[in-house]
Amino acid sequence: MAPAAIVAALGWISLHQWERSAELLRREQARDMAAMAADKVTMALRVAEDRLLARLQATLAARGIDAAALDGLLAGAPLVRRLRLVDASGALLYPRSGAEAERALARRLHDAAGAPAGRRELALDGEDWLTLTLSVRGAGPVLAAIARDPDVLGREVLAGSLAASPATSLLVVLDARGRTVWAQAPLEGAEPLVSVAFRDALPSWRMAVYQPADDAPRAAVRRQVRLFMIAFVALLVVIVAGLVVTWRLMRRETEMARLKSDFVANVSHDLKTPLSVIRMFGETLEMGRLPDEARRREYYRVITREAERLTRLIDNVLDFSRIEGGRRRYDVVPTPVEPLVRETLDAFAYPLAQQGFKVEITVAPDLPEVPMDADAVGQALANLVDNAIKYSADDRVLAVDARVQDGELVLSVADHGVGIPAAEHARIFDKFYRVGASETQGRRGSGVGLSLVRHVAEAHGGRVTVESAPGEGSRFALRLPLEAARA
Ligand code: ADP
Repeated sequence: MAPAAIVAALGWISLHQWERSAELLRREQARDMAAMAADKVTMALRVAEDRLLARLQATLAARGIDAAALDGLLAGAPLVRRLRLVDASGALLYPRSGAEAERALARRLHDAAGAPAGRRELALDGEDWLTLTLSVRGAGPVLAAIARDPDVLGREVLAGSLAASPATSLLVVLDARGRTVWAQAPLEGAEPLVSVAFRDALPSWRMAVYQPADDAPRAAVRRQVRLFMIAFVALLVVIVAGLVVTWRLMRRETEMARLKSDFVANVSHDLKTPLSVIRMFGETLEMGRLPDEARRREYYRVITREAERLTRLIDNVLDFSRIEGGRRRYDVVPTPVEPLVRETLDAFAYPLAQQGFKVEITVAPDLPEVPMDADAVGQALANLVDNAIKYSADDRVLAVDARVQDGELVLSVADHGVGIPAAEHARIFDKFYRVGASETQGRRGSGVGLSLVRHVAEAHGGRVTVESAPGEGSRFALRLPLEAARA
């Protein structure tokens, strides 16, 4: 988690730095673009104005201040919104007007223009004036001041010179009050990026670059950030999933280690009990302390029974280890069922009788021979019978039943013992698993019996089922197909 968090933090920081530098670069480019556009406009304006001024100079030189000629000139020059001619004393020469406002404007233009000079831009009351001193026939030098018509300027000069600019950003010309004079395309939510002044021509206007709402570099960066976030969340999910899986695996391994150590303790104990019985009975016999032939026979029987129990136990453990190692082979041949059932139960005759079990064996008549490994199935059945005895309660009943049902041979072993809670039904077939209830606590076992039964059933293409409830006994059924499935 810590490395992931560090990667995320670094990723986040570098994305932000990248976003900032992308923005800076964009601004820089926009500034260059605006400056270039401003230069282009200035040049175009110069050309148009030079042409106009040349005509004005020609008219003045030829005809003096001739209102009709000047009106005619202006009629053919829509770019000029106002033309004022002012003499050296600041008096208005053209247009002739007695209005005080006009005379005041003339004076201010005169004052602002200062000494006679070449072409000059003046900003007066938010309006740009182009001023120039011209010589007039019959009069001295005259100050000519021209105010441009922004509409015409926008329509003819700006549109003409800027139309070919690339359209990734929007070029916008703003007047002295920040109003849009001309825009390359409708603004529609575009944001201003940078603006530059038109240096000498149009001093109060600015050339601005807007970024269209949809094509902002920020949107691209935001897309990247979103992508990064998604990738990061996916990484987190993978890490968390990995943690959960590892934790569960670890828990399973710990549980398995505990079960294995329990298994070793249980098996050792199971082996010790019959061994000590055999030893005790053997020693008694050896010392000749039993003069009575019937008692001696009884002792021999006990030794044989305990030896059989030992053999069963060891077979179970060996088989289990063969199964675990994938080395268990089954020799499946058609086998009569009844002898198998009876032989298996015969091995338990003594403990059954000794513990006062009521035994009911029902083998359906005319059972066909069923393909099976007789040793393996006998061992599975023995495990079921052993459990039925081991987990019995006061009502000692053992019912073994063999019949054909739904096209399967069903060997069932039922008891009236402690029973198994439904929640445990699935797990009791797992290796080493033993129900932890108090009823089964005192009874020794290794926890591999039922896993062996299930393995035998599945190796024959069959299965093992259980019906049981606490206090109501259990019925285990080994179900084998009547036709050979797989060896
Ligand atoms: P174990 O050596 O403990 O008997 P098994 O694999 O044979 O191992 O059985 C697993 C568990 O299933 C047992 O520990 C026991 O709790 C439960 N069990 C098996 N058979 C019976 C039964 N007939 N009655 C009640 N519980 C049983």
